[in-house]
Amino acid sequence: MSTESKVRGVKHLVYGHRQQEGGGFTVRRPLPTAGLQLADPFLLIDELGPVEYAPGGAIGAPDHPHRGFETVTYVLEGEGEHEDSAGHRGVIRPGGVQWMTAGAGVVHSEMPSRRLQQEGGRMHGFQIWVNLPRRLKLTAPRYQEVGPEKIPTATSADGKATVRVIAGEALGVRAAIDTHTPIVYQDWSLDPGADVTTALAAGHTGLVYVFQGAVEVGELPQPVRDGQLAVLGDGDLVRLRASAPARLLLLGGAPLDEPVARYGPFVMNTAEEIHQAMADYQAGRMGHIARG
Ligand code: FE
Repeated sequence: MSTESKVRGVKHLVYGHRQQEGGGFTVRRPLPTAGLQLADPFLLIDELGPVEYAPGGAIGAPDHPHRGFETVTYVLEGEGEHEDSAGHRGVIRPGGVQWMTAGAGVVHSEMPSRRLQQEGGRMHGFQIWVNLPRRLKLTAPRYQEVGPEKIPTATSADGKATVRVIAGEALGVRAAIDTHTPIVYQDWSLDPGADVTTALAAGHTGLVYVFQGAVEVGELPQPVRDGQLAVLGDGDLVRLRASAPARLLLLGGAPLDEPVARYGPFVMNTAEEIHQAMADYQAGRMGHIARG
């Protein structure tokens, strides 16, 4: 049996396109996009902003349902406020994460915080959608809200690469968040001259999304620039280099290899299950957000 390690190359490269979401805010979306509909188990990657809101100008996504997958919100700048039909309420602050398992169904609201709406200010963050396997699509909703101080951070021996470990493990540090299937979600900051190699399980989907500067990926290496998403090829290691300050998300996950039926906020395995989700939502079976 071979135990030789292999550094992953870039198999496919796509650009994020700009798109309006929710109440009309703009996102940069590399997934899904032309040429990349799914990166199993990842369904969607949205970069929100960076955007500078005037007082009274901040917009979000008012009450809407989800079923069959997980929404993961990571705030870099600004503040996000959420509430949902399970009675959960919270504010996601810079560096904080909300990992929401919609499972059988929730109605939630994702808005800029009251303060950001009143005073205006900068907003920058990510929302990614992680698919659930068939056996967990109707699991009970779950919320993991992790403040910035609870997200483990590690720095490479030469001090030039720093990682915030939201999910998975990097540079010997394990994430605080528990995931239903093996997921890697890491925010890497690279200084000029950084050259770091990290593990990403063989057979798992591997993605690099660059949101500042440019990163050299793999042994060759291949450049991935701001706004580009690289789908990585086979291997068990990821090598990242930068000659100027750069920032990227490294995502990894075990592919589910199951049929995907998606319609708006619902992601199931069959068209019948989508129809059921719509009927359940319309009949109020995903609940309502209690206010006042
Ligand atoms: Fe949502």
